[in-house]
Amino acid sequence: MTKILEGKPVVSALREDLKTRIQALKDKGIVPCLTVTLVGDDPSSHIYVNAKDKDAKELGIESRTFRFPATMSQADLEAHVRALSQDPKVHGILVQSPLPKGLDEARVVDCIDPAKDVDGFHPTNVGLLALDRPGHRSCTPWGVIQVLKHYGIPTAGKRAVVIGRSDIVGKPMANLLIHKGEFGDATVVVAHSRTPDLQAVVREADIVIAAIGKPEFVKASWLKPGAVVIDVGINRVEDPTSAKGYRVVGDVDFAAAKEVASAITPVPGCVGLMTRAILMSNTVDAAERLSK
Ligand code: NDP
Repeated sequence: MTKILEGKPVVSALREDLKTRIQALKDKGIVPCLTVTLVGDDPSSHIYVNAKDKDAKELGIESRTFRFPATMSQADLEAHVRALSQDPKVHGILVQSPLPKGLDEARVVDCIDPAKDVDGFHPTNVGLLALDRPGHRSCTPWGVIQVLKHYGIPTAGKRAVVIGRSDIVGKPMANLLIHKGEFGDATVVVAHSRTPDLQAVVREADIVIAAIGKPEFVKASWLKPGAVVIDVGINRVEDPTSAKGYRVVGDVDFAAAKEVASAITPVPGCVGLMTRAILMSNTVDAAERLSK
């Protein structure tokens, strides 16, 4: 019987723990504060930012959203981020991606105090992750590890394939899985668009993590029977039968893959929820560390 790895129970457990920790901070007069900076008017970004604001408010985290026009200059954006980095009342800084054309995201991220870099994108946090030292972990891959932990899915000694090598998902995911210790110790292959015979690579894997950005790209026939499948992808596909005219699917052909896998994450319903929850968790971590 295939296990459907729903995100909701994992998020609920995480939120309960966060509520206790937030109360402990408030008892010391500290209100965790997350700032989200949105430049331009990308419609998807507005939806993400509103969701983050809602999550924060529900938990009792102060949420400050800054909205700027797409014409904002690089210098002004960097100055804004530096000011947040220096503000003692701010614990988490997130700059919503993608930035409008002409703005250099990497240079903006460099201006974030690594202690407040709750996305885990700053080079310092990327380095700390690579060295397996404490630091902010990129939300999506760290969320995937929490799913594996929650459902007691061992990774030690397993063959894992991570499809995708982005800085925010694929690379940090692979790094986490090769770390020594529980929910690490995997033998990891990182595949990408230049990987020959991807199907054969996937066929070898006990754990498949798909972060590609192509709807239902990974087919059931590629999977080793009993594999664990983590689908990171979020893709909109046209669907005239839906009221919205589209539906959201992952990077894996879920309907067919669930017949072959031993466990699989649904899209929507798992990794996306985890990413949001880990952002809150990283903000609370930041508030705790900064208040020490
Ligand atoms: P990127 O576009 O940055 O990276 C995609 C990766 O997939 C690249 O490494 C690319 O290879 C690889 N790829 C593309 N085509 C193929 C192919 N035919 N065969 C093998 N590999 C291929 O995407 P992200 O990592 O940012 O996101 C991936 C997916 O995850 C997207 O659907 C995104 O929406 C979703 N996402 C979901 C999140 C969540 O919270 N659930 C959070 C973040 C992302 P190459 O490097 O060679 O180009």
